Amino acid sequence: STSDLAFAKELAHRAALSLENARLYAEAREAIRLRDEFMSIASHELKTPLTPLSLKLQALSRELARHPGPVPRNLVESYVAVGARQVQKLAELVGDLLDVSRISAGRLSLELEELELGSLVRDVVTRYEPQAARTGSPLQLEAGDFDIVGRWDRLRLEQVITNLVDNAVKYGNGRPIHVRLEPHDGGARLTVRDEGIGIEPQHLPRLFGRFERAVSERNYGGLGLGLYITRTLVEAMGGRVHVESRLGRGSTFTVELPSHLGAEQARQAP
Ligand code: ADP
Repeated sequence: STSDLAFAKELAHRAALSLENARLYAEAREAIRLRDEFMSIASHELKTPLTPLSLKLQALSRELARHPGPVPRNLVESYVAVGARQVQKLAELVGDLLDVSRISAGRLSLELEELELGSLVRDVVTRYEPQAARTGSPLQLEAGDFDIVGRWDRLRLEQVITNLVDNAVKYGNGRPIHVRLEPHDGGARLTVRDEGIGIEPQHLPRLFGRFERAVSERNYGGLGLGLYITRTLVEAMGGRVHVESRLGRGSTFTVELPSHLGAEQARQAP
């Protein structure tokens, strides 16, 4: 009868709804699990620099109490250097967390200006050399004699290059790192290549995702946000980023950026 049919329809409708609810519920649980896991990693990572920082400050104040006169300069300098490094690490972690909330709130804005990419890359590499030297990885820059001009966000581009170089140093096993810049398709192509630990193939597809850290037997630390932020920034500037890697052999990250000035302006110097 009609009422039986209506009843059957209603049942089917309810069944479909509860299936949909079950799916949403599973999704929500997974999102909560990922967030909890991330909170625990993030708290741990934020706490790591705090321990040496507070130890150094305590030691410094003990020294101050011990010396009635001026404390030897080299002693103060060594404490300050360690402290400043840890504060820098904390600032970078907090900066990444802020960037991720800006991205999810859709509040990430770019300040585009006309830039010459060669000198920008050179600056970042030069600034990074002391840090790379500490880990033993020589940084080699290959940038030919040409200008690559375009409209990009200077600070954000510096952040992209720093992220990739930082990873290459961190996972590079102390082997040489090659940074290469070349004109490409009216814009630029930047590659950062290391000869380090490499990445397992199954981790590659999700490497640029939020909170993704490829697991390895050694804990390298890190929030797994750098590549997510890198990809978001590059795509916001109209470019793309990709990775090729072989486990135990090393990784190559490539960033391709359009210039937004038109191909004729990405000029070849005489
Ligand atoms: P993290 O702060 O953990 O380094 P990233 O988002 O920068 O976060 O990188 C995500 C993960 O990708 C890292 O945890 C690491 O497992 C892997 N990874 C990134 N760069 C490299 C590299 N050059 N060599 C090997 N693994 C890398």
